[in-house]
Amino acid sequence: MQILNTVHNPGAKDAPGVILIVLDACRPDGLQKAHAPNIDWIMENGAHTLKAQTIFPPITLPCHMSMLYGVKPLRHGIYGNYRVEVNRDCQHSILDLAHICGRKVASFYDWERLRDLGSPSVLDFAYYRRCRVDLEASMTIARECAGYIVSDNPDLCFMNLGSIDKVGHDKGWMSREYIDQIAIVDQAVGLIIETLQKAGQMDQYYIIGLSDHGGNAKSHEMGTAEELIIPWMISGPGIKKGHEIKEDVYIYDTAPTIAQLLRLPVQTFWHGRVINEIFD
Ligand SMILES: [Zn+2]
Repeated sequence: MQILNTVHNPGAKDAPGVILIVLDACRPDGLQKAHAPNIDWIMENGAHTLKAQTIFPPITLPCHMSMLYGVKPLRHGIYGNYRVEVNRDCQHSILDLAHICGRKVASFYDWERLRDLGSPSVLDFAYYRRCRVDLEASMTIARECAGYIVSDNPDLCFMNLGSIDKVGHDKGWMSREYIDQIAIVDQAVGLIIETLQKAGQMDQYYIIGLSDHGGNAKSHEMGTAEELIIPWMISGPGIKKGHEIKEDVYIYDTAPTIAQLLRLPVQTFWHGRVINEIFD
């Protein structure tokens, strides 16, 4: 039967892949206030916490480095939104590790400084379009991402949607415009879910959603609770449904948890650990 299933479903994979969606700068209380049925769907059909913690400084590139390298900033050495060499102690980002282990890796993003989240040559596919806040811009990124997922079946697919951050800086975190932008990004997330469902590939993927940091007033660099507390959620095969994660979750737990999902080897340089509570 297994062989027949594989023949009739060209999207069938040997093991589920991971879609990592970053809702850049989305605060948990913003998420609760916004009309975001698709992000709600991930939480209701998976495990989540609205009390996960990012690192200091809560700035986009250092946060992404901690998310994808599985370490605190003292180990990756990136403290600002500028490109410098990652410390040698950090041998691989999760993108690198997946590639080294023979997995197919892709990245979709709308803020160009996120092009260096792994080593050169590890991506099988990348798509970049400069961030805009309109619905069509977010949908374009998501459409490219969703199309690639169902046609090429990557094992690890990173997607960052940056427009919530952009509106936060322009209009203020928790402003009406900021809350409305979360609803726009939610529709892009919905396109990913809908495309997977139509292709019959929902059981082929874990969907992880999180933000890199929050924000306060019109910035996110002081380290207040509003900047440091982030949502973290996952749905997929073998993941608890409707479960609120009680244990402490840190942004640098994301890489070890992805490694566990993709059956990649544990790395000794990680500060993060697998979030075991998510498993059924
Ligand atoms: Zn950010």
